[in-house]
Amino acid sequence: MCGAVTRKYIFVTGGVLSGLGKGVTSASTGLLLKSMGYSVTAIKIDPYVNVDAGTMNPYMHGEVFVTEDGGETDLDIGHYERFLNIDLSKKNNITTGKVYQSVIEKERRGDYLGQTVQIIPHVTDEIKKEIREVADEQGADVAIIEIGGTVGDIEGLPFLEAARQMRLEEGVDNTLFIHVVLVPKLSTTGELKTKPAQHSVQELRRIGIQPDILVARSIEPLSREARRKLALYSNVPREAIFSNYDVDLVYEVPLILREQGLHSLISKRLRMKYCEPDLSSWIDFIDKIKNARKQVTIAMVGKYTRLKDSYLSIIEAIKHASAHCLLKPKLKWIEAEDIEKGRVSAEETLEGVDGAVILPGFGIRGAEGKIKLIKELRESGKPTLGICFGLQLMVVEFARNVLGLDKANSTEVDPSTPHPVVDLLSMQKGVIYKGGTMRLGALPIRLIRGTKAYEIYGQRDVVYERHRHRYQVNPRYINKYAENEFIVSGFSKEGFPEIMELRSSKFYLGTQAHPEFKSRPLQPSPIYIGFIKALKKG
Ligand code: GLN
Repeated sequence: MCGAVTRKYIFVTGGVLSGLGKGVTSASTGLLLKSMGYSVTAIKIDPYVNVDAGTMNPYMHGEVFVTEDGGETDLDIGHYERFLNIDLSKKNNITTGKVYQSVIEKERRGDYLGQTVQIIPHVTDEIKKEIREVADEQGADVAIIEIGGTVGDIEGLPFLEAARQMRLEEGVDNTLFIHVVLVPKLSTTGELKTKPAQHSVQELRRIGIQPDILVARSIEPLSREARRKLALYSNVPREAIFSNYDVDLVYEVPLILREQGLHSLISKRLRMKYCEPDLSSWIDFIDKIKNARKQVTIAMVGKYTRLKDSYLSIIEAIKHASAHCLLKPKLKWIEAEDIEKGRVSAEETLEGVDGAVILPGFGIRGAEGKIKLIKELRESGKPTLGICFGLQLMVVEFARNVLGLDKANSTEVDPSTPHPVVDLLSMQKGVIYKGGTMRLGALPIRLIRGTKAYEIYGQRDVVYERHRHRYQVNPRYINKYAENEFIVSGFSKEGFPEIMELRSSKFYLGTQAHPEFKSRPLQPSPIYIGFIKALKKG
């Protein structure tokens, strides 16, 4: 059996440009080691000054991933959770903002009394402490630390310096540097060019880090020549150069890295016992996705649809549940503002669509467009899943068009509505700070027997799902909805509606929580399975 070794730290850096898929490379490396029997954790370092990702626009950074303990983190934490099949903590996402916040707090408390507080050693010490603490608390044999951004960014320097110091302190047998680079292909000559990668390795070496392994991202497998050049100029042996070429599914990346022997090289280099990785269930999952022939078309109704990463966990949850049901999902992205502005009609938009997800969101833009679509969906009986803001707008639509409360709204959209069917959570009243103040993380939902939700969750009385919201469905109106078949099937501990469903429908259900954050390739979210099953025709 493999397992229990002196702790190993694997640092993953990136060169040439951002958005290369370092997160998937890190997660895949983790999965290979985990499948060998080691316990693995993964940490994402984000060198921005925000304390966490919670205050960032999804258009800039993609979705905000919510952890069990209510962290608002980078979406790479989602990749790690899905690949490693573990729950991570908000501590697994370290940012410049967090590091400086604690250094400054310590300075004010007098912990550094008499000293001049500096980036080296105080900030770098704090970074190392946070990395070690996470690895310790999570009892990891291996901690994978992905340093966000690109080598050469000014803001990344203290983190790279901390990583360099850790090699000295932990020893060469316990630390490893993987550098992920882009190897572009010239369209004119069809050649794979290694020069940008060479420069980025030089940049890394200039700050004292010689990578042990290079992972080259390219649109096709690396040629022998490209591999030879990369090895020569980067001072990395040829067998330590791995080709991470474009594949259809991110879940295939661990397999292509395994094929090239990444796991055996790492185990040799870090003096870890070798055990053959067992990836059989992972491969089964990929086979299910690839072999699914029956297609279902799902409308994805949102307002950040131009950047699909804004809804990454939802897309993945749909993939997991579809693989489970042996269906092939085709996503049709619908920008709610197009409907709001009358550029397309709700009816037209839903042509050929089997069902829809009303995506989460904030603010006024697009809300009326979503409501129009929801009406169409409810009336046509197409399976509909509302997530968070999606549920809230399903309630607004129902209040307006079934109960006849014309001006019903969420107070987030219309603060002076006469019928506040969705209103600010009472615990939010008086909250001024925006960072980390929403109702966040895994919280209990009490399910009502006899409802669809109760069945979907396997007849459990209480389930936990992750949350991220400031508003809630106003319980004052729920009897009126119930008289019209729109019932509450799950309540929060505080007593407000968490899940609502239309009794007579095949699947018309909204949830205040975000079940997608707990969906894993081998353990899809029950709510998403329920939705996908309902799309099965005939
Ligand atoms: N804007 C809504 C709220 O704060 C919904 C949030 C969401 O969809 N995550 O409650």
